[in-house]
Amino acid sequence: MNLLGAAQIRALATALDLKPSKSLGQNFVIDSNVCTKIVRIAGVTSDDIALEIGPGLGSLTLALMNSAASVIAVEIDSRLATQLPITVAEHADEPEKLTVIHRDALTLQELPMQPTVLVANLPYNVSVPVLLHLLEKFPTIRTGVVMVQAEVADRLAGKPGTKEYGIPSVKAAWWAEVKAAGSISRSVFWPAPNVDSKLVSFTRRPTPGDEDLRKKTFAIIDGAFAQRRKMLRSALSSLYGSSRAAEAVLLRAGIDPTLRGEALEISSFCAIAHAEPDN
Ligand code: SAM
Repeated sequence: MNLLGAAQIRALATALDLKPSKSLGQNFVIDSNVCTKIVRIAGVTSDDIALEIGPGLGSLTLALMNSAASVIAVEIDSRLATQLPITVAEHADEPEKLTVIHRDALTLQELPMQPTVLVANLPYNVSVPVLLHLLEKFPTIRTGVVMVQAEVADRLAGKPGTKEYGIPSVKAAWWAEVKAAGSISRSVFWPAPNVDSKLVSFTRRPTPGDEDLRKKTFAIIDGAFAQRRKMLRSALSSLYGSSRAAEAVLLRAGIDPTLRGEALEISSFCAIAHAEPDN
C-alpha cells in the first residue's frame, strides 16, 4: 500500500484540473503521517467498517484501507467520487474493500453496510450538522475521530460553564462522549486553510431517551442558547408561551430558572423536556 504524499496529491489535482473549492471545504491532507496518525487515534481494526465523509483525493481513505475491513467513502464532488476508485486501484492492496458513494453526506439515509467507526477530515462549513446527522442516522457507529476547525472542536468537546459550551457541545453529548484529540498544523494541507484544525474523538453512549424526548430536548437547547446571556426562564419564554410558563416547567424539572443554558449538562436539558406539560 502506497499512501499519498504532497507530490502525488498535486499531480492528481493537475490531472483532474481541480481548483479546490472553498465552499466545499476542499483542503487536502498532503502528509501521509497525519493520515496514519488519525487512523491510529481512531483505533480502527480489521473488524471495522469505516465510514469516511469527504474522501477528496484519497489520502485518508488509503490509510483507512490499511486497517479496516471495509471503507465506505461518501463524496459530494463528482470528479473526486469518480477518481477515487481509480486512485485506490493503483495504490491499495485490496481495492475491493472500498465503496464510494457520490452524495451529500447531509442527505444520507442509508448505507450498503453498517459502519462501526467514523473517520473523516470533515468539510468545515458543515462539520457539526454532518456529525450530528451521522450519529442520528447510523447507530452502529460506535466511535470515531473527525478533523474540524479548531474553534468547532473546542465547541464540540466544550464543558458546561465555559464559553465554548453551546449547541454543538450539548447536542453531541446526547449521542456520545466527545474529547479533544490533538491539533493539526496548517502546513499539512493543500491549499493551506486560513484556520487552525483539531481532532476530536467520540465514543457513543446510550442515549438519554427516545426520539420524542430528543426532539423536545433539542428544541429546548436551541431556545436556551439562541440568547445565551439570558436566564433560562426568559430564554425559554417563546418556547413555552411566557416566562411564567417557562419558570413553571423549570421548577418542575428542579432547575433554577435564573441559570443560563451554559450551566446545564445534557441530563438537565432532558429533565426540562420531561417536565413539559403533556400536549
Ligand atoms: N479527506 C480528504 C483529505 O483529508 O485530504 C479531503 C478532506 S476536505 C477537508 C473535505 C472533503 O469533503 C472534500 O473532498 C469535499 O469535496 C467533500 N465534501 C464537502 N461537502 C460535502 C458533503 N456535504 N458531503 C460529502 N462530501 C463533502
